[in-house]
Order: sequence, then C-alpha cells, then structure tokens
Amino acid sequence: MLTRRKLIQRLTAIPVLGGIMTSIPFTTAFAGGKPPKRDLFKELGVRTFINAAGTLTYMTGSLMHDEVLEAINSTAKEFCLLDEVQDKVGEKIAKLVHAEAAVVTSGAFSGMTLGLAGILTGIDEKKVQQVPHLAYSGMKSEVICQKSHDIVYNHALTNTGCKIIQVETAEDVAKAVNERTALMHFLHIESDKGKIQHEEWVALGKKFNVPTSIDIAADVPPVSNLWRFNDMGFDFVVISGGKAIRGPQSAGLLMGRKDIIAAARLHMPPRGFNIGRGMKINKEEIFGMYIALEKYINQDHDKEWAMWETNIAHIENTVNKLSGITTEVHVPPLGNHTPTLRVTWDQSKIKVTDKQLRESLRNGSPSIELGGGTENSVNLTVFMLKPGQEKIVATRLKEEFTKATA
Ligand SMILES: *Cc1c(COP(=O)(O)O)cnc(C)c1O
Repeated sequence: MLTRRKLIQRLTAIPVLGGIMTSIPFTTAFAGGKPPKRDLFKELGVRTFINAAGTLTYMTGSLMHDEVLEAINSTAKEFCLLDEVQDKVGEKIAKLVHAEAAVVTSGAFSGMTLGLAGILTGIDEKKVQQVPHLAYSGMKSEVICQKSHDIVYNHALTNTGCKIIQVETAEDVAKAVNERTALMHFLHIESDKGKIQHEEWVALGKKFNVPTSIDIAADVPPVSNLWRFNDMGFDFVVISGGKAIRGPQSAGLLMGRKDIIAAARLHMPPRGFNIGRGMKINKEEIFGMYIALEKYINQDHDKEWAMWETNIAHIENTVNKLSGITTEVHVPPLGNHTPTLRVTWDQSKIKVTDKQLRESLRNGSPSIELGGGTENSVNLTVFMLKPGQEKIVATRLKEEFTKATA
C-alpha cells in the first residue's frame, strides 16, 4: 500500500517538472480575452476548395456537422475509460442499426480486419497475440469472396494472415469451403457484377456454417442500408463513418453478432499485442461518430434529396444553354447513390480537355474540385457542397466553357 509519506516523497521527486508547470503564467498568455483565431490553412499554405467531386479520402472525405464537432469538443475535456465509451456508445449504435452489437472502428477498412480477426481467434487471448501467424494455433486461414468482389480493400482481410479464395458460382462456394474457411465476404458496391446476390450469399454461409460479412463502406444513402444487411443476417457489416454519414473521417462502424464484436475488441486498443493496436480511435471520435449516426438517421432524407436535385438542376440549367454542351443527371445505383451531373462537350466547338478544365477550376478562386470523366466530359455531385456553392460552381463552369469557345 502507498502510505501518505511515500506518496509525498514521490510527488516531491519531480520538483523540476512541477516547478516549470506552475511557473508558466498560463492565464496571462491570453490576457485581454480570447486568443486571436488562427487560420491554419492560410498559415501553412494548405489549399481549401469547393468539393463538387464527392466523398473521397484524398480530398479528406466529408465535413462534420456542428453537432458532431460539438460532441467532439465537449467530450475532449474529461478522462474516461476507453472501453466504457465503446460499451455505452456501442449499445446505442447497435439499436440504431438493428445489430446485436457494434463498435466504432478507425474506418470500414479496420472494421473488416477486426471483424475477421475476431472470428479467427474468438476470445482466446493466446490466439489474439498470434494473428497474423495463423498456423501456430491452427487457426482458420481462408476467406471466400466472389471474383468481382475481390478489390483492393480486401487487403484489410489478408492483413490477418488469411488468403482470399475467389469463387464465381454457388457450386464454386461448395467446392471452396473446407476446415480452413473462416469467412465468406461480400462487397455491396460490386453486387451487380457477381452471380450470387446478398440473400443467397447469407444462405450459403448458413448452409456451410461459415460466417458472412459485407462491406457497405460507401453505401448510404439510402439510410435503410444501415440496417438492411444486419436484418438480412450477415454476421458482420462494415461502413465508413466519414463518407455520407459525415462522422469523423477516421471513424467507421463494425456491426454484427455479439460474440464477433466482443472478440474483435480484443484486437483493439486499449489492448496492445494485437494487430489492431495501430487502429486507435479516441473517445472524441467515438462520441462524434455516435452523434453523426444519430443525426444522419433522424434527418429528413426526402428534403435533402430534393435540395440536391434543385442544386444540380441549377448547375445543369446554367451550362446546358451553351452551344456544344450536353448534360445528363444520373444516380449511381451502388456507391455514392446521389444525383450526379455529367457535362459533355463537343470538342470541335469547345476547345478544352477534361484535365485542362479541372485544372482551371482548381486554380481559380475559389478553387473547385470536380469528379473525373473522359477527355470531353466531367462528372460532379452536389452532396458535399455548402449552401450557395452550387451558384459558384455553375458560374465558374460557364465562364470556363465560354472562354474555351472563343
Ligand atoms: C471507402 C471504402 C473503404 C474504406 O473505408 P474507410 O472508412 O476509409 O476505412 C472500404 N471499402 C469500400 C468499398 C470503400 O468505398
């Protein structure tokens, strides 16, 4: 036991630090009120821009609503136990998304790694320490996935030491399943390219007694996707927090079976000695993710959709009056399911390439980023615009097309 005397001895053993701390005139540094507001973008020369492209990681994803920033700020000023925040927030989130359990992860990618790691090890702490060296404890080591669903993000799965076994048909699945099969993974965004659809995938998993997972990282809207795949019976589901949900860009959700989430958490901080220690998510982000999700679910989605349509129509109607321009609004059925405007031009009339046009808009003031296209077309979305920015985008596009027509 620590006696009072020993405690005092210990405290006085760090006089230098204590001395420095108390000698800083902390309150006088900001004498006369609030410190001047610093514009760090300006100070460091970091370009900001109007985002008419979409929720892209290299453009820092999405912007958080004030309620989310308020949740982050207000929780930043107290200590608490990391596990307790995950317990309490996880319970709330699980209810919102119809899952048995949920945990806030550092993105959808880490959700895939952690969910699979949990399946491989269960709550056996010795096994937890051995991932990704699966052979040591005879852990399972294969993940079955449709060929068209095996994209770059499956690296999240192979990080556990598992390899991907590609299949195309239900017969292929039957042949591929063996005692090493840990998981059957599905990718929603490519579901139109695979032969096997969601329900059949889940049914096959149940038939062969193999857990199933789905990556829906970029797949709200529609909001119902948040619970659709939990209701369908996938054993775990991952989604990005920092895309259309507009939570912290570094956050995501892992939702699913209670035993899988509990095991996944053994691979997460505050615990070390696991593959997930580097996938830390702090309490502010966890609270922020919860508030972002709650706000996203409760918002008026029809009203928001109508606003996107109005804004995209404004841009469309500004540019399609120009000679040589054709426009088309489409809604991608999978991934970034939001009104998207394609502007195409006749290069014999308008002498500009998509690269030149995007470069001019990027270098203009204010800077604007558009989505990619072809040599004579660009795509743009309005769901990441702030109110009024649709007018700036429309005007700037018209200016550039007019200039290139001369
Ligand atoms: C964005 C994305 C990911 C990665 O999500 P993070 O939240 O950035 O980790 C994984 N899969 C798909 C299909 C994605 O679009």
